[in-house]
Amino acid sequence: MDYGTYFFTNIASVTVFTICMSVLAWHNRGVKGMQWFAGSMIVGLAKLILQGLEGKVPAILGMVANELYLISFSMQFMALHWFVVRKPMKKRWPWVALTLILFAYTVMFFAHIPYGGNLTNIPFVILCGASAWLLFRHGSGPFTAVSRVTAVVLLGDMVVASYRAILTNLRYMRPWETVDAHTDPRWLYSLAGMAFLAAFMIMCALWFLVTELQHELAEQAHTDPLTGAMNRRAMEEAALRETARSIRFGYPLCMIMIDIDNFKHLNDTRGHAAGDHALRALVAKVKSMLRAQDLLARTGGEEFAILLPDTPAASGILAAERVRMAVEALEVPFETGPIKFTISAGVAQLDPACGFEGMMRLADEAMYEAKEHGRNLVSARLMEAATLA
Ligand code: GH3
Ligand code: MG
Ligand code: MG
Repeated sequence: MDYGTYFFTNIASVTVFTICMSVLAWHNRGVKGMQWFAGSMIVGLAKLILQGLEGKVPAILGMVANELYLISFSMQFMALHWFVVRKPMKKRWPWVALTLILFAYTVMFFAHIPYGGNLTNIPFVILCGASAWLLFRHGSGPFTAVSRVTAVVLLGDMVVASYRAILTNLRYMRPWETVDAHTDPRWLYSLAGMAFLAAFMIMCALWFLVTELQHELAEQAHTDPLTGAMNRRAMEEAALRETARSIRFGYPLCMIMIDIDNFKHLNDTRGHAAGDHALRALVAKVKSMLRAQDLLARTGGEEFAILLPDTPAASGILAAERVRMAVEALEVPFETGPIKFTISAGVAQLDPACGFEGMMRLADEAMYEAKEHGRNLVSARLMEAATLA
């Protein structure tokens, strides 16, 4: 293999992959990680073309190629960050550091200061390590497998890039050496090694996209589109898990059924949009009051269920009362004036003999009792009642 053949085949295949990745990113505009991946590939392709033209274009373009490589892997880091951290990156210092490094490298290049290449080599190795660390640390849930495989590819990048950094320091960058890297097969084969790992990385990017889309579909199937709360199906699945855990480990499990009072009247007098708005505000309020392990689901039109793991009935009643009072105090801003409403709630605790269905029935009965007693109330069916039922 010679340099010409290597660059020709590599540039041709990377061009095809970059086009495919850009089209995919365009079609999945909601998946921001894909846009970072596509951007990283476009920059990487530009670097490859400049590198391939080395010797035919001014040396300054070789310097630009090295800078583009670092930028391309920084964009790849952002793609991975988007997929596994799932929040925008708040830290600004990595961008400042990248700018300073590129600036210092440019200065060293123009000043003909030896060993300037280390200003891109070493940050590149660190960046690959940081990307792998990010994936090991944050890649969880559906992203666990793809994160681990991608992290291994990045560790491979680290090894090959370190080898190339050592080669350049010992052979090509020394001011008194006149060795041309192009005559050294180790240089060419290590370059091919980086290309092999880059191909692997493209597969990982596609795997990330597929995982993301599957994750979104699963979320949609489990979420109520109006309020963003879990839907009934998701609640039933979670309830089966929680019931089994509660019975196995002897933890108490509690449930609150909530129904908005006179919601039909609210719809009739203020309009359906106001009703929808009230439902969303209720969910936001209740979510803000729950612990991380509590589950809130919309089980019907204006009916909600809260599952409280590791919670006895007495604490469940307190929680329900806190929610009831918070909703009573709530004034939901709306274009035609603030909306006010109340809820009635029923609380029940799991009785292993009756199971989840039994607890739900009791919580429902307790809720209707609260309605019968005048609404805007909390009512409960405790363990003894559950055992009798
Ligand atoms: P109660 O105090 O006895 O619970 O009376 P209510 O009026 O709340 O109960 P009812 O079951 O009579 O009415 C429920 C209403 O909820 C009727 C239905 O139009 C409304 N509803 C159900 N789903 C939605 C929704 O998604 N959006 C809006 N705006 N209204 C809904
Ligand atoms: Mg109802
Ligand atoms: Mg109602």
